[in-house]
Amino acid sequence: MTSFSDLNLNPKVLKAVTEAGYETPTPIQAGAIPPALEGRDVLGIAQTGTGKTASFTLPMITILARGRARARMPRSLVLCPTRELAAQVAENFDTYAQHVKLTKALLIGGVSFKEQDMLIDKGVDVLIATPGRLLDHFERGKLILNDVKIMVVDEADRMLDMGFIPDIERIFGLVPFTRQTLFFSATMAPEIERITNTFLSNPARIEVARQATASETIEQRLIEFRPSRRDRETAASEKREMLRAAINAEAERCTNAIIFCNRKVDVDIVAKSLKKHGYDAEPIHGDLDQSHRTRTLDGFREGKLRFLIASDVAARGLDIPSVSHVFNYDLPSHAEDYIHRIGRTGRAGRSGVAISLGVPSDDKYLGAIEALIGGPIPRADAPWAPNAAAATTTPGSTATAEDDSAPRSRSRRSRGGRGAKRDEPAAIAPRVEASPAVAAVEPVEPAQRPARTERSEQTPRGEHSERPEREDRADRPARDHRHDRNRDDRNRGRGHDGGDRAMGMGDHLPDFIAKSFDERRGGPPRPFVAEDEDSDTVTDVVETQTQPATIAEDIADAPKPKRRRRVKKAEAVAPAETADAAA
Ligand code: AMP
Repeated sequence: MTSFSDLNLNPKVLKAVTEAGYETPTPIQAGAIPPALEGRDVLGIAQTGTGKTASFTLPMITILARGRARARMPRSLVLCPTRELAAQVAENFDTYAQHVKLTKALLIGGVSFKEQDMLIDKGVDVLIATPGRLLDHFERGKLILNDVKIMVVDEADRMLDMGFIPDIERIFGLVPFTRQTLFFSATMAPEIERITNTFLSNPARIEVARQATASETIEQRLIEFRPSRRDRETAASEKREMLRAAINAEAERCTNAIIFCNRKVDVDIVAKSLKKHGYDAEPIHGDLDQSHRTRTLDGFREGKLRFLIASDVAARGLDIPSVSHVFNYDLPSHAEDYIHRIGRTGRAGRSGVAISLGVPSDDKYLGAIEALIGGPIPRADAPWAPNAAAATTTPGSTATAEDDSAPRSRSRRSRGGRGAKRDEPAAIAPRVEASPAVAAVEPVEPAQRPARTERSEQTPRGEHSERPEREDRADRPARDHRHDRNRDDRNRGRGHDGGDRAMGMGDHLPDFIAKSFDERRGGPPRPFVAEDEDSDTVTDVVETQTQPATIAEDIADAPKPKRRRRVKKAEAVAPAETADAAA
């Protein structure tokens, strides 16, 4: 078996790796580090959680340790799709380069240009950036990319989803032809293949089998229910009620949880609703300004915040070691996202619980998820009984679930053929068989992503219906705006700085990065206090962009209604992620 000492890394890097507690390289590290150190291009097909960040940072630090940066001319460039991922890569650099003198700058949106300019002016060895912010700096004439010797593209498939590929192509054209490229993607969509064929030169291809099953430490369950009425207001209200009941049923062992929604608007609504009902909950998604996002994540990592309501992109790849529960308020429309989401819990050998709510319209997603994980998600009894609201107090809960919009039908609908034991008590639901998170470094067929292909036809990625307000672009230089709608870095970056500036650049990393996650105290969980009943109704805010007049009291402070506008059908169903959290 390969060991880190076999990899020709700088001894100071090796020391940092040992201090980080790593004993053996992961398959992507064992495969990518040697060719990277030889100066070859690398195409790494691996997803987050496989150790891919170290697979490019360790060789980069080793190579960059020889030489110094010149003012405004970074020697290397790492491009990440979201601000949080960029910040996480920066954190990795800090860890692995602690014994090597290297400078770095983090260029992400939502942070003032001025501080970033100052760092660039001094000269940095490593520039970690989201594409939009990097181009903004370049266009302002503050950045010269002629000295970039190593360029990393991380999570290229997510860049594609978010509409950043034109930016990436443009950046490839701005860095020297002779640079070394390290390119990472979880899957190889045709567009990604085209990019790699165009911009990589005879790359070493290292493919790590995608994670098709969840960690064996994660107990998965699905609560199926059918809303009592077809109208969306009732269905949404009942779903929130069901979520609360599911949380309450886990009160004994739920120290904290990430609750995933498919759409940003639902992230806000669910967070508001939970707060209204006394839960310690905050939303995180790409429309929130960076300082807010940083504070929220910081609080969650430190154990001060118990429930993080998140969109996929906002939470994707974030490495928070101790999350006891994941709730899928919505089943994700892309099967891989199910694996990513539930992988936020059960990390590093800890146990975790992942509970999903499924409604009949989720059947197509559920089929794809179960096909991907190779078996049914064990069904659990619904913790909240429709038409019996008075008797719905669940173990460990102080909340009652009286709601005149309670579901009129039982949640257990037949799913013949899937083999799930729906009547099995939730607490003893079997765990899904698991395989290791990373498989051997042997080539596998390019990962198929049926959901990806379906996406453009059914649920096109691109959060057009929820895209953020555009910032005042008056001071922005002319540029190619073809995909601007998906660049929330640029769309939101300025205008949020004043007075409430997020730290998050260069040596001034966001606080949450510098802090380790506090293990939750062992004491009993805080009680949930239901203050009010959920009597709200919510119409299709995505299609109309309008909060209905009937909106619930419990989300009365939810985002202000936007004016009704025409939304193309395809846009109206776009999921939460695109343009979320991005650059
Ligand atoms: P990544 O895929 O880069 O997001 O890494 C996922 C997690 O694996 C991070 O928490 C890393 O600190 C950790 N990690 C990376 N490499 C190793 C290794 N060789 N041994 C153990 N843990 C690792």
